[in-house]
Amino acid sequence: MINGVLFQTFEWETEADGNFYKNLKNDAKNLAEIGFTAVWIPPAYKGASVFDVGYTAYDYYDLGEFDVHNTVRTKYGTKEELIAAIKALRTEGISVYGDLVYNHKGSADYTEKFMAVEVDQFDRNKVISQPYKIEAWTGFDFPQRNNKYSDFKWHYYHFDGIDYDVKSGKRAIYKILGENKDWDQKVSNEMGNYDYLMNADIDHEHPDVRRELFKATEWFIDTTGINGIRYDAIKHINADFIKELSKYITKKYGDKFYFLGEYWAIDEGMIENYIDQTEFRIDLFDVPLHFNFKNASMDGNNYDMRKIFDNTLTSIHPDKSVTFVDNHDTQPGQSLESFIEPWFKEIAYALILFRKSGYPCIFAGDYYGIGGENPIAGHKEMLDNMLYIRKKYAYGEEIDYFNEPQLIGWIRKNENNNSPLVVLISTGDKNEMKMNVGEEFSKKVFVDKSGKNVDEVVIDENGDGLFTVGPGAVTYWTLKESLEDS
Ligand code: CA
Repeated sequence: MINGVLFQTFEWETEADGNFYKNLKNDAKNLAEIGFTAVWIPPAYKGASVFDVGYTAYDYYDLGEFDVHNTVRTKYGTKEELIAAIKALRTEGISVYGDLVYNHKGSADYTEKFMAVEVDQFDRNKVISQPYKIEAWTGFDFPQRNNKYSDFKWHYYHFDGIDYDVKSGKRAIYKILGENKDWDQKVSNEMGNYDYLMNADIDHEHPDVRRELFKATEWFIDTTGINGIRYDAIKHINADFIKELSKYITKKYGDKFYFLGEYWAIDEGMIENYIDQTEFRIDLFDVPLHFNFKNASMDGNNYDMRKIFDNTLTSIHPDKSVTFVDNHDTQPGQSLESFIEPWFKEIAYALILFRKSGYPCIFAGDYYGIGGENPIAGHKEMLDNMLYIRKKYAYGEEIDYFNEPQLIGWIRKNENNNSPLVVLISTGDKNEMKMNVGEEFSKKVFVDKSGKNVDEVVIDENGDGLFTVGPGAVTYWTLKESLEDS
């Protein structure tokens, strides 16, 4: 998809009123017109309650159909409404990526007693207790669903770890003991072995589990009609499992089926390693770029903007990189809080929407705003305009002017169309830069489509223009009258 744009449709505080799917359905046509080519929907599974964002993942076969945890619908609506929303989006040509939470399960139906050891929370390979019997929430038999879609029942031996012993009331990281039981391999080596993240940690090396998750994935795709997957928390999931599941899905649904993984690491080497381990089958979020944005937005004048793409996935594997500014985990109050400072938001979005590299993802919290007790306003008007600019002008050769620590710019030549796109960023004072759009534009007039400058730029006989920006801002310029408009 040329100049595709992904939309993360939810934020942590998205209203739990059950209208989410209905609204998404009604908005499908509008989203397509604005320029979104794909959407990432929240985890569709029944969680711990009607307020669950979806990451507790109680039952992979309950998409808002059974009366469990005091609700039939999920936070977002019913199964029928989910299917109707996806259908409406696909009808408008928008791809839909489902969020698969396969690292862990939560809100079990009953407790089980089994042997376990405590491990050091900072080095999970280090056992710090004798084996002893604990009682924990690992039994899932889904009584209300009554074997519909699947008769698989989850027990403690389908998991590797848990963090709470009901018997003693003790919180710790417990490694479950048994035949062939150990932490999964090919996971992040932070904390020694970062298989365990939260809740009941799924054992992806258990053959019955693998079979069941493959089946659940097929069922989910067939039931909902999604054509892409976002894998949650893959840093904690055996890379071979993700590779083989993706391979299987590709074989069944074709090589256009899309895969995206959330591997939360600042070190681009770890992300690159996972790309290798999964044989280039999945794209990954460019988390290092998010942290470059975060640092630049915090450091202001002291950050060297010429290095904004240094050590990022976008710079190593541009065709595997999904670029983003913020998400539901980085927003204020959440587990990975690292929200980009407001003054830098537009700059960051220019860096993902107007560049050649990366597949940009726009966050609902930045688009509509963030709800809850401490609401934050969104930037819908600004982003709608930027999406329009991307769709119309962000094509062709890219000429960089990464000239000064606080002043960078680039030109997209857009050779085959209306007008070049000139982008200029100053993280310091108000500034200007001479940039060359080509002699063929001599005497033509460029205007600032970001709306910050009323002054126009006239291109001289050499094709140079003196473009202005700042302080702490981005401007983006195109021909005053593009050829197709005149
Ligand atoms: Ca795990």
